[in-house]
Formats: sequence, structure tokens, C-alpha cells
Amino acid sequence: MPHAVDVRPAPEQLVEAFRRVRAAGHGDQPAVLVHDLDRLRAKLDALGAAFAAPRALHTVAIKANPLLKVLRVAVAAGAGLEAASIEEVHLALRAGCSPDRIVFDSPAKTEPELAEALRLGLRINADNLPELERIAALHTPASASRIGLRINPELAEAGIALTSVGHRGSRFGVPLSQEAEIRDAFARHRFLTGLHVHIGSQGTTIPELVDGVARVWELRRELVATRPVPIDMFDLGGGLPAQYRDDAPRLTPAAYAAALRAAVPDLFHGDVLLVTEFGRSLLADCGFVVSRVEVVKPGPVAVLHVGADLFVRRVYRPHEWHHDFLALGRDGRPLAGDPVATTLAGPLCFGGDVLARDLPLPPLSVGDHVLIRDTGAYTVSMWSRYCSRAIPLALGLDGGDVTVLRPRDTIADVVAFWGG
Ligand SMILES: *Cc1c(COP(=O)(O)O)cnc(C)c1O
Repeated sequence: MPHAVDVRPAPEQLVEAFRRVRAAGHGDQPAVLVHDLDRLRAKLDALGAAFAAPRALHTVAIKANPLLKVLRVAVAAGAGLEAASIEEVHLALRAGCSPDRIVFDSPAKTEPELAEALRLGLRINADNLPELERIAALHTPASASRIGLRINPELAEAGIALTSVGHRGSRFGVPLSQEAEIRDAFARHRFLTGLHVHIGSQGTTIPELVDGVARVWELRRELVATRPVPIDMFDLGGGLPAQYRDDAPRLTPAAYAAALRAAVPDLFHGDVLLVTEFGRSLLADCGFVVSRVEVVKPGPVAVLHVGADLFVRRVYRPHEWHHDFLALGRDGRPLAGDPVATTLAGPLCFGGDVLARDLPLPPLSVGDHVLIRDTGAYTVSMWSRYCSRAIPLALGLDGGDVTVLRPRDTIADVVAFWGG
């Protein structure tokens, strides 16, 4: 029997979850963002089991979903947090994460931000050599921070160019081919005790991920052979794809960890603190969105309450960013009826705000619902204020309860955002 988190949530489970949302009194929202917190806990457990090592720190990439209550669940379940900005560092602190379990990874850290990170004692991955020199100028032996250097393993570009960050020519990390400079940096900076690699998000395969890690592990082997100070932190980033359609492969943490154990067994032997930074693969299938159908126009075109504001990548690059859609009636149950080619339009005032074109769906009427699957990562975190609509109500499924993770924006919130 596969574990429940090793299979994609089935449509029936999502329909049942929406029934709970409605039963809890949230059925009349224009749109709701639903997060299954129990599933997130189970996925973190499965990740920890798959990557079991004498020393491991599993962080969740905040940029995948910065809802504070989601972060709190992750922290309470034993995860650390990965921050892509100083603001995300503060979200992590607010979520109760201890500083030594926060990994600060921004590619554009300012000097004051670095000084603050060192004062707080965060784990910091320097993105480039000039940043390392900035850290050297600010670093004192009193800082509890552990410092790593991000390496670009210079693979071939991954399947989706937009999110590929570990190929030759990528602007992230120090290219592996600059080995002399890397060697020099490690020789000069005794505080530098970590290596970091992250090659991208979605569009990657397990062999590519393993290849990136193996190349940087080989660099570590060469560095430690000549250097008295150990390199005892190895951060293999995130980048495991999520499964957005039934016919796509499901790349589990267990499969990834098994491939890593075969290719880089020493990674798991306790010489290093093994750090991971998964976002999408942990969170995407912990969330779904339901929108009411507000208008149906000839076509038919069903106008929903979320579009390019919540699904930036999907709307602008639909060939790369897939979501499945379920048509539900007013009562929240799946609609029957012969499918018709339906366009699902967002609510924003431009012709391109379309979530799906000519999608075969049972005929939709005003007041029906459309459920969008796998929305737990890189949706609300990428919210666009264009047209100034309210961020919908975010809910959590937590044990038997339906809890509010974030209330729907009020009009005052939106006015305040624009300086009101
Ligand atoms: C975005 C990002 C992650 C998370 O990537 P996922 O594909 O969501 O797992 C991890 N580390 C770094 C440095 C990132 O930029």
C-alpha cells in the first residue's frame, strides 16, 4: 500500500474537503484557498523518513507559500524555513522558527541585511563571491551563523527555462568551473563551512537533481582533502517537481533520496548536516482553490473570481504551468452532463486573463463552482495586485476543524496597500 501522501489527492477527496469548507459556513465566498495542514504534516514526516541521516535539517521554502499559519504548522512539525528575502526571514521568526533553523538565500542581500543575518545567527548561503567578501567584512567570531557558498553545477538547462537555475550561464551561484576561485575562497575564509546547490523548480528530473548534487559533493571531496576546516553543511536545495496531472510521473522524496543514496552515499553518513529546501513538492498538493462561477458568457466562457492575480504563471505561460479543474454544482457536488469546450476566464480587465481555453467540462451555470487542484505552492505567494481585488479567504483543514489561515482582504486592506 503506498502511503497516502505518495498519491495525488483524488477528486473525491477534494470534493469531500470542499463539503467540509461549506459545512463550516464558508460556502458563500467568491473564492477560497484551502490548505490541508494534516497532509502537510504527513508530507514532512515522509520527507524526514526518506532523507533520514544522522544530522538533517529540512527547511520549507517560504516563497512557495508564506501564509504564516502554514509556516507555523511546518515549524511545529519540526521543519526549518528557507528565506528568499530578509522579509521572509522575519516571517520565519514570526512563525517561531529558531534562527539556526532559518536558511537565508536571497541572491541580492544588502550589507545591512547580511549584518542582521549574522547578528541573528542565521544560516546564510552566499550566492556569489563578492557577497562572500561582504560577509567576511562583517563576520566576527561571535556570530553563531553558519555560512555556505552556493555553487552552480552547470548542468544543461532544465525543462522549464523560467525556473531553471543550475545550468551553464545561470546567474545563480558560483559556477563550478571557477574552481580556482572557489578553492581560494575556502582557503581564505575559515568561517565558510557549507556548500549549497539548488537547480530549479518544476521541469527538473531526479537524474538531473542527483547530477547537480553529485557534482557539488565531488567539489566538497576535493576541498576537504586540502583544507583543515571541515565543510560540515551540505544544502541540496529544493527543486523536486510536483505532480500536476495524473499522467505525469510522481517524484517522491523517497525516490529522490534513494537515487541520492546510490549516487552519493556519503551524503547520508553524518559528516555533514544535510539540509533540504523543498517548497513545491511539499506544498502544491496540500492546497486547492474553489471559485464560484459569477457569469457565464456565450462560448461558453465562465468568469471566475481568480485569474492572473492568483495564477500568474499559469495565465502567462499555460503550456508550462498546468492545473486540473473540476466542475462542481451549487451544492458542491461534481456536475454531470456532456462536456462542452469551456473557457475559464479570470476576473481581471484584460483579454488574456484566461485560466483554461476550450476545456471539456460539464455545462457550468452561474452559482456553480470550479475547483482548481494543486494550488498549495507558488499561487498566493505570487499574488498580483493588478485590478486591486481582495486576496480570497485562506482556510486550513486541521484535524476535524476548518480554520481561518488568513481572512479575505477587506477593502480597507487594499486601499492601505496603495497608500491609503
Ligand atoms: C525556490 C527555491 C527553493 C524551493 O524550490 P522548490 O522547487 O519549490 O522546491 C529552494 N531553494 C532555493 C535557493 C530557491 O530559490
